[in-house]
Amino acid sequence: MTSQDEEKNILDSVIYNYTSNMQAIEDENRILKQTAENLKKELERFRKTPLLVCEVMDIRGEQAVIKLQNGNEFLVEISEEAKGLMPGDMALAEQKNLTIVRKISISKKFNVEKFVIIEKPTVKWKDVGGLDEQAEEIKEVVELPLKKPELFRQVGIQPPKGILLYGEPGTGKTLLAKAVAASTNSTFIEVVGSELVQKFIGEGAKQVKEIFNLARSKAPAIVFIDEIDALAAKRIEIGTSGEREVQRTFMQLLAEIDGFKHLGNVKVVGCTNRKDILDPAILRPGRLDRLIKIPLPDKEGRLEIFRIHSKDMKTEKGMNIKTIVNKMEGFSGAEIRAACTEAGYYAIRENRTTATKEDFERGIIKVRQEEMSEGEDYMRMFG
Ligand code: ATP
Repeated sequence: MTSQDEEKNILDSVIYNYTSNMQAIEDENRILKQTAENLKKELERFRKTPLLVCEVMDIRGEQAVIKLQNGNEFLVEISEEAKGLMPGDMALAEQKNLTIVRKISISKKFNVEKFVIIEKPTVKWKDVGGLDEQAEEIKEVVELPLKKPELFRQVGIQPPKGILLYGEPGTGKTLLAKAVAASTNSTFIEVVGSELVQKFIGEGAKQVKEIFNLARSKAPAIVFIDEIDALAAKRIEIGTSGEREVQRTFMQLLAEIDGFKHLGNVKVVGCTNRKDILDPAILRPGRLDRLIKIPLPDKEGRLEIFRIHSKDMKTEKGMNIKTIVNKMEGFSGAEIRAACTEAGYYAIRENRTTATKEDFERGIIKVRQEEMSEGEDYMRMFG
């Protein structure tokens, strides 16, 4: 090998080393650039102000009423990206002006079964006292169509989809609804109107839908709506978003009732102490069009109810029930039961297992006093 060749070889290897170093440097440079880019992005992310999670209460054209976690409500703008929001949705809002940036899917998921009472009641018709006429009517309009739908088909008439029981508190409305659920082997689904509108702000309508889905899946079923007036009260003016929310829930209830068949196996039993304030829409034909008044018991009724609630009690021999019941004038079924329970307590306090006439009389006085003090509280509230 000549010295010229040797020199060329050395040069080649220097060039080779140089290019591979260059390659390595370029690679390193690229990695560093990428790292710098990532760090920059992360820094930007740290600098960004966090977005607020809020609940959409109402949509008013281009704007929305939102509720923050602290309970404050604001009327805010909706960005393009968040168009199509619905009341009840959860969303992210900018901190500065609370503009809604986008919808998020952490909707308040709830299990409807947790918020309603579902049971298979065992109440018998004979557990209901003094309401024979009303029980007959309920049997005719709720029990018969569930038990013998073909009868209605043959005759060609449509039974009511639901009924409305109205009357003073404690007169046995819930008891009757449970009795009809038991006699038809139906699932009893109890919903309280006021809870529906207070607990599920923005979700009331959705909740109603789910309740009826549940009823269909557990049919035959009775949907019992206690305090239906909280949902279905006449509204003179729908101003606030809260009122609009109640209205939406009510509309959904009407839609559900309109949606099922007369001879389907879901029936609605509404219940109220305030029939006077009901929106007539709920009482229209094809809805809860059978109104049944549940009155306070008369003399005979009080006697029957007293017998029902004292039948498992040991009572003094020869006790004149009639004279006791005469002292219960104006009592509801719930008050008669309370008087019996109180009588039992008086006996227990004196180490007796038998309740005497005096125990019942003291029980009656106690219930009357409670009734009076409740009345006074009521007067104080509005006086
Ligand atoms: P509210 O309007 O306050 O919801 P309600 O009319 O639905 O009251 P219930 O809940 O049915 O009243 O009555 C409460 C309890 O009182 C019943 O569980 C039952 O023990 C007793 N009771 C009421 N009415 C009668 C009745 N007619 N016969 C027998 N028991 C009764």
